[in-house]
Amino acid sequence: MEKNKPQVNLLIPLYNEEEVYDKLIERLTNVIEKTTLDVSVILVDDGSKDKTPFFMRETALKDERFSAVFLSRNFGHQLALTAGLTCINATEAVLILDGDLQDPPELLDKFYAYYKEGYDVVYAERSSNAEKSFKRLTSRWFYQLFDRMTETKIPLNTGDFALISRRVADILNQMPEERRFIRGMRSWVGFKQKGIFFDRPQREYGETKYPLTKMLRLALDGIFSFSEVPIKLIINLGILAVLSSFIFLTITLYRKFYLDVVGEGFTALIFAITLFGGVQLISIGVLGEYIVRIFFQVKERPLFIIESRIEKQKEINGQEIL
Ligand code: UDP
Ligand code: MG
Repeated sequence: MEKNKPQVNLLIPLYNEEEVYDKLIERLTNVIEKTTLDVSVILVDDGSKDKTPFFMRETALKDERFSAVFLSRNFGHQLALTAGLTCINATEAVLILDGDLQDPPELLDKFYAYYKEGYDVVYAERSSNAEKSFKRLTSRWFYQLFDRMTETKIPLNTGDFALISRRVADILNQMPEERRFIRGMRSWVGFKQKGIFFDRPQREYGETKYPLTKMLRLALDGIFSFSEVPIKLIINLGILAVLSSFIFLTITLYRKFYLDVVGEGFTALIFAITLFGGVQLISIGVLGEYIVRIFFQVKERPLFIIESRIEKQKEINGQEIL
């Protein structure tokens, strides 16, 4: 890296992205050549099964502006980012973006201008979103729900696409939580934060690596890692159930002693049993979600395993890293 230019890392997780890879490197190289910043790119291979790691190796060995981090298996997008954040070397800031070009790297200078104005976090808000309507709708619902349930405010229509200052990156690296929801953690950190709008294009190459199940898991991690509202809901539900059963008891006794009618109510009984059985199971499930998180957290396993790295065109293998 050159000394006189401000240093910025671009951090990009890649999972089976061979289709977009060449295009990505071309766009990145263009950005690096145009900007006045000293950019170095960190590509993280999240255990890809296609040719992505092979291509990454080639790029990093021939161009010192690119370094490559190889994880030992697929750890998921959030942990791939977490791993990449531990490998940063830029003094000023880190731009986090997806590798599928849905987060245009050309916005770097715009992000950086706000950073220079004193913002520690500059995040991208999607003013329009070419994503399929199902994904758009479910993500809007999720952010509205998240907003109601947590005190950490994350702006609607954002992802992990953001420029964060070196000090925010260092703080994220000190947060040991296991189920990571980086866009939430980034908001939680505080400092001056600023959103800039951009039109999010559709994914042009390859398929989404976030199928419904992974999306749901990320959403649950967001809620259960940032909110105690589900537990509070259980208590309220319990109070409601106790109250309604007392009201029902009073009505039944009144009918028996004053009106001399004994209800038959077999259907009502079955309904009540199954209803409260269901409520109890759901409540246990909610508790379980928190307990599972405690369970994995107390193990204190490493969050990810870096198998090897290529930096400044040199290979560093896992033993030296661990
Ligand atoms: N990704 C990853 N590990 C995974 C899934 C995805 O590193 O297990 C990367 C992927 O290669 C991409 C980014 O995370 O660079 C975002 O994924 P994708 O574009 O598929 O998500 P979407 O835009 O559909 O939400
Ligand atoms: Mg994408």
